[in-house]
Amino acid sequence: MDEIKTPKKPLIFYYGIALLIIFLLNAFAMPWLMERQVKETDYGTFMRMTENKEIGSVQIQHNQIIFTNKDETQIFKTGVVEDPNRTERLYDAEVTFSQEIIKEASPIMTLLFTWILPMAIMIGIGRYMTRKLTERASGGGSSMMFGMGKSNAKVYVKSSSDGIRFTDVAGVDEAKESLTEIVDYLHDPSIFQEIGAKMPKGILLVGPPGTGKTMLAKAVAGEANVPFFSISGSEFVEMFVGMGASKVRDLFKQAKEKSPCIVFIDEIDAIGQKRDGRIGGNDEREQTLNQLLTEMDGFEENAGVIILAATNRPDSLDQALLRPGRFDRRVPVELPDLKGREEILKVHAKKVRTDANIDFNKVARMASGASGADLANIINEGALRAVRDGRKFAIQADLEASIEVVIAGYEKKNAILSDKEKLIVAYHEVGHALVAAKQTNSAPVEKITIVPRTSGALGYTMQVDEGNRYLLSQEEIENKIATYTGGRAAEEIAFGSVTTGASNDIEQATKIARAMITRYGMSKNFGMVAMETVNNQYLGGDTTLACSAETQALIDKEVVTLVKTQYDKAYQILIENRSKLDELSKHLYEEETINGEEFMRILEA
Ligand code: ADP
Ligand code: ZN
Repeated sequence: MDEIKTPKKPLIFYYGIALLIIFLLNAFAMPWLMERQVKETDYGTFMRMTENKEIGSVQIQHNQIIFTNKDETQIFKTGVVEDPNRTERLYDAEVTFSQEIIKEASPIMTLLFTWILPMAIMIGIGRYMTRKLTERASGGGSSMMFGMGKSNAKVYVKSSSDGIRFTDVAGVDEAKESLTEIVDYLHDPSIFQEIGAKMPKGILLVGPPGTGKTMLAKAVAGEANVPFFSISGSEFVEMFVGMGASKVRDLFKQAKEKSPCIVFIDEIDAIGQKRDGRIGGNDEREQTLNQLLTEMDGFEENAGVIILAATNRPDSLDQALLRPGRFDRRVPVELPDLKGREEILKVHAKKVRTDANIDFNKVARMASGASGADLANIINEGALRAVRDGRKFAIQADLEASIEVVIAGYEKKNAILSDKEKLIVAYHEVGHALVAAKQTNSAPVEKITIVPRTSGALGYTMQVDEGNRYLLSQEEIENKIATYTGGRAAEEIAFGSVTTGASNDIEQATKIARAMITRYGMSKNFGMVAMETVNNQYLGGDTTLACSAETQALIDKEVVTLVKTQYDKAYQILIENRSKLDELSKHLYEEETINGEEFMRILEA
């Protein structure tokens, strides 16, 4: 589909132009008007030219003398010097006495050019804007000269051949299923109208960033072969109060003309946030939201305009938006599971040249937690790596390496660790891997590396689950904490001292331990009581504590005990396998990277 963008010129653009004009006027036109090209000379030259009868006309002012050469092609000026016989001598030299060579820059002219004119221009622009704004707000709104206040909804012109289709969006089968109905409706609304069924006006696509919400909306338009309007919620919120609302109005006007069609509003939370009635709340946003609600109520059902909106913060949306007749259908677009990841990888792999026998399942397993956008990125990074290495197509190793790039950043080629540091990092990473391997119910180790990364990681241990994990048992979570503490434990065992290298492990372990107690009900003291609520399920999942200060203190104590217990467990495991710890760490120190099989071979030898 080709995208036609309406040019958008912000207000500042017009003010910029006005300022530029004023500047040019002042810099060039004014001096020119006032003095043309006047050459400054000394009084001696003036006297000599008088003597030689080279002067055409002369104008004597109180503070300067202006004169021209004989054929009046050049104007000169010079200062006034006490010279009693000047007039006589000039008369003898047959010059013309003139008042007209240059008019003395009159103070009125100066005032006009430097102050009044610029102000007039500014005021003019200001009035023009105000008029247009009120026109819009009062619902008039004729076509506007510069297209200001027009919605920036980009129009995707119908094009069945190269549009995005459902087959381009992989791994979100449930979402596709609920949207298929919309496609059918857009194809032939009459079937639905006959039976009296009403299509929802608005559908909310809810899910974490990069899971394909935009793609899905485009695919609906592509499948139904209807125009696609798209705008981002943040684009509604403009500099001036009232602009957002007028954009909403415009958008719906356009859409109704083009119906049947899809209107896609990305990041709807930017305008659709809860109106909390705070003093000094965001007026502009609320007006825009109100306008959106009005418009949605305004057009009748079955008008052929379907509004899709995307958000990753559904809990922050205003309830009014979710009422029946507005966005009353919600389609979750979650992070893809293992099978979904594999499908997405395959869809994107078709766009680049790849080796025929790539194990996409393995790549998908390694990329657990990745979104569709991450996976598209992994394929692209893989292709780039293939080019760097002079290959004609991407191979398995390229994709695996690019997962690491996406997870941990690029290898830092010039980071120089001292031998001692390198050894500490090796022990640390083997500590993680060994604790993981010696516990039952831990994901197998896939790879250990101590090559520093641009993300700041000095090394890492990659564990890859065999299949999909939907549930974790308490034991598995505890093992996870133990694995996180294994790095620090290994440092302590091997060197008798500890380093800053475990900071991220500590953070992760604490987070899990806290969640066990406050959210998963895995604490004996508190049982199944939620002490924390998740604010933003799809964006990082930060939490708010919902308990008394005393309870908080108890929670903190329990978190400490929990992590400590797991640390002791990890320490014990490593002590029991001390010789393996040494052997593996030495090996990793020399090789810098070892894979899972190598690791298991040494461990079981
Ligand atoms: P969202 O709108 O959910 O943030 P997008 O639809 O903009 O995500 O997706 C960004 C990019 O990620 C897409 O252009 C596409 O390349 C890739 N992508 C995301 N999800 C999928 C998917 N399910 N199938 C194929 N590609 C996907
Ligand atoms: Zn670590």
